[in-house]
Amino acid sequence: SQPAASRKQAASVEFRNVTKRYGNVTAVDSVSFTIAPGQLVTLLGPSGCGKTTTLRMIAGLEMASEGQILIGERDVTNLSAADRDVSMVFQSYALFPHMSVIENVAYGPTVQGVPKKDAYAMAMEKLEIIGLKGLEKRAPSELSGGQQQRVAVARALVLEPQVLLFDEPLSNLDAKLRRRVREDIRELQQNLNLTVAYVTHDQEEALAVSDHIIVMSNARIAQTGSPRELYEEPANLFVADFIGDANIIAGDIAGIEGQTAQVRIGGMSLQLPHRGAGQGPVKLAARPDAILLDEAVQTGALAGTVRKASYLGTQVEYDVESPIGNLFVVQHGRKEPIAPGTPVSISFTTQRGVAVIPGA
Ligand code: ATP
Repeated sequence: SQPAASRKQAASVEFRNVTKRYGNVTAVDSVSFTIAPGQLVTLLGPSGCGKTTTLRMIAGLEMASEGQILIGERDVTNLSAADRDVSMVFQSYALFPHMSVIENVAYGPTVQGVPKKDAYAMAMEKLEIIGLKGLEKRAPSELSGGQQQRVAVARALVLEPQVLLFDEPLSNLDAKLRRRVREDIRELQQNLNLTVAYVTHDQEEALAVSDHIIVMSNARIAQTGSPRELYEEPANLFVADFIGDANIIAGDIAGIEGQTAQVRIGGMSLQLPHRGAGQGPVKLAARPDAILLDEAVQTGALAGTVRKASYLGTQVEYDVESPIGNLFVVQHGRKEPIAPGTPVSISFTTQRGVAVIPGA
């Protein structure tokens, strides 16, 4: 196999104000982002938000209506798919059913004029990397879903593209396999230092595999950040709600000092980073584990009542009635559950997990 140094360098991908229109539908609306070389970045969002169109514009399978697309230093905006040095793994795998595994993987180099012997050697190397050695003579129909998916990945890797794209690669796999394959993809990406753009609508999958996540909503970017940033510091209600669970709580900013706001909810006062919110009404997004419950009465806490306790295995989830109109969803580690009907003091962790949403 080739020494790492002779491999092609992973390249960056950059969108500058890219728009895609189909007739009068704007599928992608003036989107800008950068994927750094060697990073796995996920395009995440609900159905119809524009993530597949964005991926297909990286590949050159769709042309941008406006804006600029760069791969590494090259402006590829007007280049065809064949000239972009990008490979894509499709949701359906798109394997040729009448060809064996090795023929499928060697197909790309063969079409590019690589002699058959060399193309097969390149294909074998990738099949080995991906753990399919020994299965090269089989037909795709003689493989499991997970194995077919690996063949699709080997076929995308064989030309050592500067950028590798995945379009919902796990949707045809069952839940258990999905977890394993996503870990395999992440490991491969890290070991080979690949630049990857990955489309999914599954927020848990995105959190698990990504260096960065681009959350899309209605053809635009709602927020970009690391999984931790998006979970702990959602910038808007859409992201707070789409990634994980959030309790959305109405409050008031009573005062601001430097980076810290004094936020009142009910009779309680919290010190939180204000993140650009001004004085006045504001919304907080509190993660289920950032709300604390205490069976002892605490001064300065909200008085609430546990309505429901659900045992979830590693955690217990509570529905807690509060005096400020919310039914809070709270999750705590596995301890002796607090019984429904029990009065509790509700307080909040202020270090992480409670975000002030500016402008909400
Ligand atoms: P999904 O998860 O359902 O695939 P998505 O986020 O990938 O959704 P896109 O497929 O990018 O969304 O579509 C974005 C918008 O553009 C949608 O409103 C869609 O109907 C529209 N669209 C996509 N492709 C075309 C096309 N070829 N012609 C017309 N409209 C299109």
